Amino acid sequence: MTTPALVLAPGRERSLERRHPWVFNGSVAEVVGGPGPGEPVAVRAADGRFLAWAAYSPASQISARACSWVEDERIDEAFLEGRVHRAVAARSYLDHRTDAVRLVFAESDGLPGVIVDRYGPFVVLQLSSAGAERWREPLTAVCGALPGVDGVYERSDVDARKREGLPPRRGVLAGAEPSADLLLHERAAWSEEDAGARSWSFGADVRHGHKTGFYLDQRASRRVVATLAAGRRTLDLFAYTGGFGVAAASGGASDVTCVDSSAPALSAARENLIRNGVTAQLVEADVFRYLRELRDRGESFDLVVADPPRLVSRAQDVNRGSRAYKDVNLLALKLLAPGGLLVTFSCSGLVGPDLFQKIVFGAALDARREVQVVGRLTQASDHPVLLSFPEGAYLKGLICRAA
Ligand code: SAH
Repeated sequence: MTTPALVLAPGRERSLERRHPWVFNGSVAEVVGGPGPGEPVAVRAADGRFLAWAAYSPASQISARACSWVEDERIDEAFLEGRVHRAVAARSYLDHRTDAVRLVFAESDGLPGVIVDRYGPFVVLQLSSAGAERWREPLTAVCGALPGVDGVYERSDVDARKREGLPPRRGVLAGAEPSADLLLHERAAWSEEDAGARSWSFGADVRHGHKTGFYLDQRASRRVVATLAAGRRTLDLFAYTGGFGVAAASGGASDVTCVDSSAPALSAARENLIRNGVTAQLVEADVFRYLRELRDRGESFDLVVADPPRLVSRAQDVNRGSRAYKDVNLLALKLLAPGGLLVTFSCSGLVGPDLFQKIVFGAALDARREVQVVGRLTQASDHPVLLSFPEGAYLKGLICRAA
């Protein structure tokens, strides 16, 4: 029996040779051996040369996602186990800092389409490609066998699955179901000297919350916000369950206002504030409208954190999304007192760091504020960026000081 293979059109091997894992359907000249969705295929150059092992995605524009460049490797259960264990071992430095960690970050950890997040005794799988879908059972077994794991839950309810022709899926894969009051803990630091002896506790609604329950990717930035907040009147825009609001309040903000349009998110934020012994004002409102209200009331703030949802998901939305980013930043800058700080984020992969900085610059011009960038933020280190896969860098933040 011949191994299923994709043969590329002449000259289309360069990207795989540079270890970029995506094979676009426009590059594929021939599909050999009738592979099924998610099945491992050998990707070959037009001259037949082996390039990579990849998981076949017939419904997607990305026809295959490479997971190995070693010809005699077999993409089997032992391979998957090896990849998961390698990724878990690479995060062990975080063990003393938090019990909620992204253990596997998809392409960046050599497992395309696979996200594995750990929340204390629970593991959450998010499978977003045909290959990942096919690996559900072995991945469940490997994750369920990690030390201290009581249950494996699936949160494959992301839009990306549509492009792969996969329906949304959610539910228990193994062991116990995560309870609604699952807590995570992370070391906190709120002064430059603080070694982080204290911890924050946050509720994580693994079953219904955003992402897999919490914004693990903002862990490092929560600590930064805590160190910036002392004595500052703080506004936490798009607060969700109050990660930044809790950080700012713990860091000694003079007062904190958390704004979000979601009532359930704010009620979770209220519990997180109580849990951490701090207070904030919670405002259920559309941020765009509320910022104009604050402006009209003549309010001002010394620290504004703006962490909107992904405003650009497709290339054709870049212009519209950029305008929305500019709008938030413009309104936020206008509210800053002299010397005030804006900590502003974009989690849209399609808005790169240069474009994001240009957007914030445009906002500063229109707000008639002189703005300096005094720091740059990115996704926490358990969301690594593989140099051969720069698309893995999606979260960028600027710490701006307005004169
Ligand atoms: N900063 C949060 C994550 C933000 S997620 C954290 O660190 O945990 C984005 C949030 O924006 C969601 O909670 C969503 O409810 C909220 N949101 C989206 N559009 C909004 C709008 N127009 N006005 C107010 N909140 C909005």
